Amino acid sequence: MSQLIGRSDIEAAATARLSRTIERYRQEIARLLGADPLAKTIPEARTDAAWGRMWVEMERDVADDVGVLLVLAWMASAEQHGLEIIPHDPRAVVFATGRAADVARQFVANTQQRLGSTIDGWINAEPSKAQVAADLESILGPVRAEAVAVTETTVANSAAILATVAMMTTGTGTGGKSIWQLGEAEHCPLCVALHGTDETIWRIFAPNGPPAHVRCACWLNIVPVDATTPRPNMDALRQAAASIGL
Ligand SMILES: [Zn+2]
Repeated sequence: MSQLIGRSDIEAAATARLSRTIERYRQEIARLLGADPLAKTIPEARTDAAWGRMWVEMERDVADDVGVLLVLAWMASAEQHGLEIIPHDPRAVVFATGRAADVARQFVANTQQRLGSTIDGWINAEPSKAQVAADLESILGPVRAEAVAVTETTVANSAAILATVAMMTTGTGTGGKSIWQLGEAEHCPLCVALHGTDETIWRIFAPNGPPAHVRCACWLNIVPVDATTPRPNMDALRQAAASIGL
């Protein structure tokens, strides 16, 4: 098999969609901060009703965008790998709904945490308007949208491939297993060490398969169940995992 076909198109569409959502909330945060962002360093000012509503809406909209991406990527991957699917396949919808909710919750929590420390940093720095705008863009900008799009495409691809492998094992098929393959994107030391290993090894370090980290574009290659795989160096694997904080 190969990397998810059409992957870059799926990522680009999701990045564009998420970027629009994120941009809208960046403007909303700038508006809530008002003309004097430092006045909002008082914690209560960041937890009042308008802010509370904004965070709830951000979580809902990010979950919608990520959910669309996950369904599209899961369906594309399932089709590529020969898994029998139906329109709006319930397996895709159930997977995407649960995962998108988790991603959106984490996205909002990270945004709150980063915004909080950024505002704290403004207290003594007296930032210019341009600096405030640049800081907000680094928290909620296209770079972050793209990171989510790439990472979650990998999540959906792995989920569909593992559903395919499970079907091969339980159905009339001859059985199969999945081997970790390095993607074209940047690699962490763990991805490099996991390259070529089968499920008995990679599951120890990444129970759901790739991604092993943000922007990981590794993928799982389905091979016959009796295909031989090289014996991994477990010490090297543990060191690699430790190097990325696992
Ligand atoms: Zn990777």
